[in-house]
Amino acid sequence: MNTECIFCKIITGELSADKVAESDNIIVIKDKFPKASVHYLIIPKQHYRDLLELDDCSVSGSLIQMARSLSEHNSELRDFKLLINNGYSMGQRVFHVHMHFLAGSKISDFENLI
Ligand code: 5GP
Ligand code: ZN
Repeated sequence: MNTECIFCKIITGELSADKVAESDNIIVIKDKFPKASVHYLIIPKQHYRDLLELDDCSVSGSLIQMARSLSEHNSELRDFKLLINNGYSMGQRVFHVHMHFLAGSKISDFENLI
């Protein structure tokens, strides 16, 4: 828990967010400023500032497993794209590691993202 971190505040309930799914170590919320018709953020409940700090393979594995679970439970999410921005110059703006789950749009809609 980092008291300055917006995702930690969402996880503790101090800030509100549209929650999509949850497991023991992961939360999934809707992105506040969606860049695709489906844009979720898959977030570990424990605070790691970025992927280099995330040294627990069970947590990094859980991020992917959660993406699989979201897809398996909704036929409209059969095809999806996962994205992690790591570091400021690569577009990371919230320094609590998270994976973007993007779906429901054509791949050409993502030209500015990849
Ligand atoms: P990054 O740029 O760090 O990879 O992604 C941060 C994401 O968090 C952005 O897509 C941004 O729209 C989203 N975001 C920023 N603040 C909030 C917030 O308060 N609530 C939610 N749900 N998403 C947020
Ligand atoms: Zn945090």
